[in-house]
Amino acid sequence: MCPDNAVIKLGPGNRLRFNYDYCKGCSLCATECPCGAIRMKNETI
Ligand code: SF4
Repeated sequence: MCPDNAVIKLGPGNRLRFNYDYCKGCSLCATECPCGAIRMKNETI
């Protein structure tokens, strides 16, 4: 679902990681996740 391939699946029961070098913050993954497992947070500067 990530157009930039930034979501890394860690296998059954091990959830996900994100490669922030590729993530552009579009929130498509959070919008499309059928489980609601991904939440977006504002970046702090
Ligand atoms: S926010 Fe966008 S670019 Fe980042 S992981 Fe989700 S779908 Fe990919």
